Amino acid sequence: MAETPQEVLKMIQDNNIQIIDLKFIDLPGIWQHCSFYHNQIDEDSFDAGVPFDGSSIRGWKAINESDMCMVPDPKTAWIDPFYEEPTLSLICSIKEPRTGEWYSRDPRTIAKKAVEYLQSTGIGDTAFFGPEAEFFVFDDVRFDQTENKAYYSVDSVEGRWNTGREEEGGNLAYKPGYKQGYFPVSPTDTLQDMRTEMLLTMAKCGVPIEKHHHEVATGGQNELGFRFATLIDAADYLLTYKYVIKNVAKKYGKTVTFMPKPLFNDNGSGMHVHQSIWKGGQPLFWEEGTYADLSKLATHYIGGILKHAPALLAFSNPTTNSYKRLVPGFEAPVNLVYSQGNRSASIRIPLTGSNPKAKRLEFRCPDATSNPYLAFAAMLCAGIDGIKNKIEPAEPLDVDFYELSPEELSKIPSTPGSLEQALECLGKDHAFLTDGGVFTEDFITNWIEYKLDNEVNPLRLRPHPYEFALYYDV
Ligand code: GLU
Ligand code: MG
Ligand code: MG
Repeated sequence: MAETPQEVLKMIQDNNIQIIDLKFIDLPGIWQHCSFYHNQIDEDSFDAGVPFDGSSIRGWKAINESDMCMVPDPKTAWIDPFYEEPTLSLICSIKEPRTGEWYSRDPRTIAKKAVEYLQSTGIGDTAFFGPEAEFFVFDDVRFDQTENKAYYSVDSVEGRWNTGREEEGGNLAYKPGYKQGYFPVSPTDTLQDMRTEMLLTMAKCGVPIEKHHHEVATGGQNELGFRFATLIDAADYLLTYKYVIKNVAKKYGKTVTFMPKPLFNDNGSGMHVHQSIWKGGQPLFWEEGTYADLSKLATHYIGGILKHAPALLAFSNPTTNSYKRLVPGFEAPVNLVYSQGNRSASIRIPLTGSNPKAKRLEFRCPDATSNPYLAFAAMLCAGIDGIKNKIEPAEPLDVDFYELSPEELSKIPSTPGSLEQALECLGKDHAFLTDGGVFTEDFITNWIEYKLDNEVNPLRLRPHPYEFALYYDV
């Protein structure tokens, strides 16, 4: 792994690299890339950047102002394990070529500004993030090469997405039922070898790997784990995580989805995000003898997240499908409260023994359809707002919310019911994002418009399969 441009150039020579693949994140959170012959990248590329046309990138520049520059970060260099010719991958941030300024709509730039904002407040110098992204593996039935046709069907009564081939020909004897996937050994678990390959491949790409396992939903829901890291590194790792998982699955004739709720009536896929703030190498969230051994600063951080959660979710749960996961009964949070150990609370304080360095909170709402740079930056801004304004969260609740009566539940604020609602909340509550100069007003307006025009409204205008079950014969 490299630290400096010189070290990357040495890596290129030592490994006979032919192609340098520059990657950057678009607005909705998908890596885009462009490959260069190795002699096209020199020391200057790491400062001025490499020009490209940004006009066709979703949610970015208009056609009349399309020139942009990708600036590779030397710390993100790894040799891509999926290509035949030696290919070096580098993650980039985006600059405006005319002014040389970092581009205000570039998510990775926004994430950098969030860390600088934390440092400028004097509260802390480092924010650690540990995302746990769950995903489903399905048979790759998008296109059947032998029959030359695609298979998709939705069981309109169950609301379940069926893959023709799997249901017709598969032997379901070892397939766990809904919520039965956590986590019997093989042969019930059929994905051990694939997950191991995913994990080990990730390590080759510089991700500090820890573990893998099957998840709670029926055969095919999984989670791999990597060690927590600084905000930018954690977001870079998460994108590498998704890239490696999808590409290894493809080798096995499978596809992967991080969609939060692909199956009706079974657990969805979340991306719980563990977080803590440190200063001068010391953790700031620990204080012995308080509730869950949390410091005052940590409870204020929690206060900020819970207060701004309805708006925050427009970044951490940014798809229409996100809100099909946030319903009671599937280990996904619905209630905006915090709790020690309770998995149905939006914020859980994991039991970490007496190690101050392990003290952290786990925000359980997010899912992996979020753009991690934007979601982590927004969470940090909410936490900082809580600390600056000493926002006290409501008393922690250690009961099982699923057992509470409707009256008791009605007193607890809940997560927004749809993307539209979350965007509405963001429209009203975003000073916590813009005050420190992390997000611009333009970015927020553009985000809300992008999501309404490209996701909320197009979905609203289409007949839903389940409407046929409900209304066809009326
Ligand atoms: N899949 C659950 C969710 O939607 C979480 C299960 C777990 O606690 O790991 O958040
Ligand atoms: Mg999990
Ligand atoms: Mg978790």
